[in-house]
Amino acid sequence: MAYIEPAPIKDKGNPFESMMSRFHIAAQHLGLDDEVYNVLKSPSKQVIVSLPVTMDNGSIKVFEGYRVIHSNILGPSKGGIRYDMDVNLDEVKALAAWMTWKCAVVDIPYGGAKGGIKCNPREMSPGEIERLTRAFTQAMHEIFGPDRDIPAPDMGTGPREMAWLMDHYSRSQGMTVNSVVTGKPLVLGGSLGRTEATGRGVMISALAGMEKMKINPFKATCAVQGFGNVGSWAASLLEERGVSIVSVSDLSGAYYNKDGIKIQEAINYRNMNNGSLEGFTGAEKIDPEELLLLEVDVLVPAAVEDVITENNAHQIKAKLIVEGANGPTSAKADAILNDNGVMAVPDILANAGGVTVSYFEWVQNRLGYKWTAERVNRRSDRIMKTAFDKVYETAQEYNVSLRIAAYIVAIDKVAKTYKYRGGF
Ligand code: GLU
Repeated sequence: MAYIEPAPIKDKGNPFESMMSRFHIAAQHLGLDDEVYNVLKSPSKQVIVSLPVTMDNGSIKVFEGYRVIHSNILGPSKGGIRYDMDVNLDEVKALAAWMTWKCAVVDIPYGGAKGGIKCNPREMSPGEIERLTRAFTQAMHEIFGPDRDIPAPDMGTGPREMAWLMDHYSRSQGMTVNSVVTGKPLVLGGSLGRTEATGRGVMISALAGMEKMKINPFKATCAVQGFGNVGSWAASLLEERGVSIVSVSDLSGAYYNKDGIKIQEAINYRNMNNGSLEGFTGAEKIDPEELLLLEVDVLVPAAVEDVITENNAHQIKAKLIVEGANGPTSAKADAILNDNGVMAVPDILANAGGVTVSYFEWVQNRLGYKWTAERVNRRSDRIMKTAFDKVYETAQEYNVSLRIAAYIVAIDKVAKTYKYRGGF
């Protein structure tokens, strides 16, 4: 193949390079031609905006906002908006590409995008966050649209921000357009099941992985890194299926109880304690690094990127990793995990339950009709299980890891669609 191999990856810090190195391996397995390789690796649009916002003390602060549309080959682009101090263009580019692969793996008719604003929402008042969200929506009014680009929540954002976004976009159009964004509050056209959807998909992926690894859920132990929307729902739903969650963590630290943490108690505590587990007495505090290295059957990284790296991958004792977060495993760690026989259900498959129910939300908005929670869950469980089986079969066929198999499934679909659509 004539295409140039991406520069050797540093182990930490550049998620786009990390994404590209997996893309490259999968492309070689598929024998992707140079033209398609170059089209698929290049984000189709990258927008950077400056957002002047009046702060509560009357001063004006300028924030930087991003939206990267990686691809709209399969349909309108889809992906969340992240509010975090670490947001930067390379990260948003990687996250946008992951959305393309994620939507393709679960076979929903969307391309991939991602947005972000470099800010610390924990230090901002609700009023400041609202003005920032409206400023961003205003700046992106030609990018967003129900048939163009459809945002959703990601780290640091949730239904509240999506409501402001929907309201502001609707004002610019002179009518209510609820299908411009997903992850909205229920009363504004949000879908039943959307809040728990990513965690639920993680649970379905974990059970499917356990079945392959012959791990009995009722005898299994699990550690969950991150106790936000994804981690806490994944923990709760896995506990419901008989798995003992022995460790959880959040920004305040990591917590361990060998007899299993009562997840509902931890959630109630967090909800009454300003969103933090600090002071939770249902478990003892341990070093957060230790959580990843615990002697458990299943490990669910559901916090941030690059937590499993070449520095700690060889110490991981879990047999199964199910990636609730986007990009928690660095590319260099992949080989170490493979050599040690650890099965990793990759992010673009394991956490795709969120965007799947986002798709259902968009469908319901366009139908002007509301589905029951039972219908949403049944359909998303089926999509997740079908995607898992397809990726598993592909892994057998090509003799590759589940991660590379997921990229193969996704790239193959997008490449075929591109060929039908054609270029100019
Ligand atoms: N931010 C979520 C993700 O990374 C959800 C995206 C969406 O629903 O569009 O998958």
